[in-house]
Amino acid sequence: MSNIIIDSKHEPPGLRGEGFFATKLSDVIGLARKNSLWPLPFATSCCGIEFMATMAANYDLGRFGSERMSFSPRQADLLMVMGTISKKLAPVLRQVYEQMAEPRWVLCMGACASSGGIFDTYSVLQGIDRIIPVDVYIPGCPPRPEQVLDGLLRIQELAQNESFSRRDKPAYKELMRDYGIGDEIN
Ligand code: SF4
Repeated sequence: MSNIIIDSKHEPPGLRGEGFFATKLSDVIGLARKNSLWPLPFATSCCGIEFMATMAANYDLGRFGSERMSFSPRQADLLMVMGTISKKLAPVLRQVYEQMAEPRWVLCMGACASSGGIFDTYSVLQGIDRIIPVDVYIPGCPPRPEQVLDGLLRIQELAQNESFSRRDKPAYKELMRDYGIGDEIN
């Protein structure tokens, strides 16, 4: 135990005596969620390669607590969609999203996933927001790893500051209803 006396004028908010810090449960949960996002990479084409570069040593997504990839939707809370999504594949993406437990976030990487990109054809989905809600978009074709990191930081901001009752709020339930995603699925 230290004998240092802390000057109360300079103590951080919430400090009460030695080794004790008062905070709010929502802040602790926000901090934990922010720094332990488990991404599910849904990569279909070239944007996926850029994502691999983001995971590698030079950029190292692990610095943000997200090095643990999850290829099981039930053990993931961040769906990262990268690449061209054909209409044939769309139901699979939707099923993956539906199998993820709340809270879940969606990061949409690159022009193809965001809007179909250059593939304005009968077979390509013109943006994944036609089938699932998106939290953050990363522009580019392909986006650079720095942009992927920026996108992740924005998701972290959402995860940290989102109230844990948001998912029970009418606005969120209405959003899910608009997409035809029901409570019974989870
Ligand atoms: S946005 Fe560009 S780089 Fe990304 S999948 Fe589409 S064509 Fe490839």
